[in-house]
Amino acid sequence: MAKVALVTGGTRGIGAAISKTLKEAGYTVAANFAGNEEAARKFTDETGIPTYKWSVADYDACKAGAAKIEADLGPIDVVVANAGITRDAPFHKMTREQWQEVIDTNLTGVFNTVHPVWPGMRERKFGRIVVISSINGQKGQFGQVNYAATKAGDLGIVKSLAQEGARYGITANAICPGYIATEMVMAVPEKVREAIISQIPAGRLGAPAEIARCVAFLASEDAAFLNGSTISANGGQFFV
Ligand code: NDP
Repeated sequence: MAKVALVTGGTRGIGAAISKTLKEAGYTVAANFAGNEEAARKFTDETGIPTYKWSVADYDACKAGAAKIEADLGPIDVVVANAGITRDAPFHKMTREQWQEVIDTNLTGVFNTVHPVWPGMRERKFGRIVVISSINGQKGQFGQVNYAATKAGDLGIVKSLAQEGARYGITANAICPGYIATEMVMAVPEKVREAIISQIPAGRLGAPAEIARCVAFLASEDAAFLNGSTISANGGQFFV
């Protein structure tokens, strides 16, 4: 039987590319989203992938959502914790609300997403957790104290889950994308985008599908010995 994969924030941007790539690779995919019904409907029309609405910031909703998917499609074998938000501001202007919202979604959201499915993975002795972190969790970023903290925290989560899950056949890995050509990045003024690209040795933005293919590899049987690792998919944009 096909393995079941849950992709949070799986209806737009990088998440949509991940959902589609996993479907093409033979998984039964469930795509979660937060509230943009129109984008979710369009995504299902285009791909045939069912969508499930809840906020990853809400533990009970994550638990109920996972249970619904398992009732509909079968036990979840692969979790891609992709949902993420930004609420940027320089630190002296950052509000407690901006801090908390990003922590709740990008960091607690990963706990909330993985925790309900973890016992089942342990019982079945198989699981694949892939967390979409960010280059800015590795290097920090002006105006992103909240975001960088969560994305660095996500790396701590996978390294710890790797140690706890390994003997149960569960792996947990992270991908740190650099700048990817999503709607958000393409919407910034061309001059700003050119400045961003000038810092990428590859001379271009990444494509969502390039992140999706990294996820497909980490989810596969072939990646069984990769555990607690970070794939930096950033076109060579390294830093000290
Ligand atoms: P988008 O803003 O294009 O899409 C975000 C997706 O996440 C949407 O499906 C959205 O649902 C969903 N989402 C947002 N908040 C929640 C929530 N609370 N609960 C459930 N779903 C939620 O994001 P990107 O594709 O740009 O980013 C995806 C991931 O990749 C994020 O974690 C981001 O931090 C990371 N990343 C992105 C980079 C980039 O260049 N774009 C670079 C590095 C990392 P809805 O449609 O309902 O709003």
